[in-house]
Amino acid sequence: MYICFEGIDGSGKTTHSVLTAEWLRENGYRVFTVREPTDSRIGGLIREMLSSPDARTPDGQRILALLFAADRLTLRSKIEGEWSGSVVVSDRCYYSSMVYQEPAEWVSEINRFAPQPDIVILLDLDVELAMERCGGTDEFEDPSFLSRVRERYLELADKNEFYIVDAARGLNIIQRDIRRIIAPHLGIC
Ligand code: C5P
Ligand code: MG
Repeated sequence: MYICFEGIDGSGKTTHSVLTAEWLRENGYRVFTVREPTDSRIGGLIREMLSSPDARTPDGQRILALLFAADRLTLRSKIEGEWSGSVVVSDRCYYSSMVYQEPAEWVSEINRFAPQPDIVILLDLDVELAMERCGGTDEFEDPSFLSRVRERYLELADKNEFYIVDAARGLNIIQRDIRRIIAPHLGIC
C-alpha cells in the first residue's frame, strides 16, 4: 500500500505523513515514510539543484523533472522489493511533478514507470494561509506561483481519484479526516 500526500508548501504534508505513519504503526503495520526528493543520491542532486538559481531556468526545470523521475525509479525498486507488503507513506509523489514541472504530457511520459500511489490525499489550502504558515518568501513560494500550483492540483484531483482534505482547519481535525479516509482501505475499524 502506497499512500501519498500532496499539496502546496505549508499545507502540512510532512506533519501529516509523520502522524499517519505513527497511527499505522500503532495499528500493527510495518510502515516506511519517504519524501520527495528521496534520500537517494539522485535525491541529493535534486536538493542541491532546488537551492541553486539553475533551477529557475526552463532547462533547469526540465533537468529537475528528469531527476525527479529518476529518483522515483529508485523508490519503485524499494516499494516493489525490500518494502513489499508494508505501507509506504510519502510526502509527495509523481503528481508533484505534474504540477510543478512542464509540459504536462512530457512530464507524464517520463514518469510512466513511477510508482502509482493507491491513495492520494490532497491537503488543499488557500495560498495566503500557506504563506503565513511557512513564513518563507523565496521564489518558489511566491503567491502567484503557488496559486497556479494549487489550481493545477485541483484540476488533477478532478481527473484522478484524489481525496481532498481541507487543510485550513486544526491539525487534529485534519488528521482525523485522513484516518477516516485510509482506515477502510486497510480494514482498520
Ligand atoms: O516538499 P518540499 O516543500 O520540501 O518541496 C520544496 C520545493 O521543491 C517546492 O516548493 C517546489 O518548489 C519544489 N518541487 C519541485 N518539483 C517537485 C517537488 C518539489 O519543483 N516535483
Ligand atoms: Mg516546502
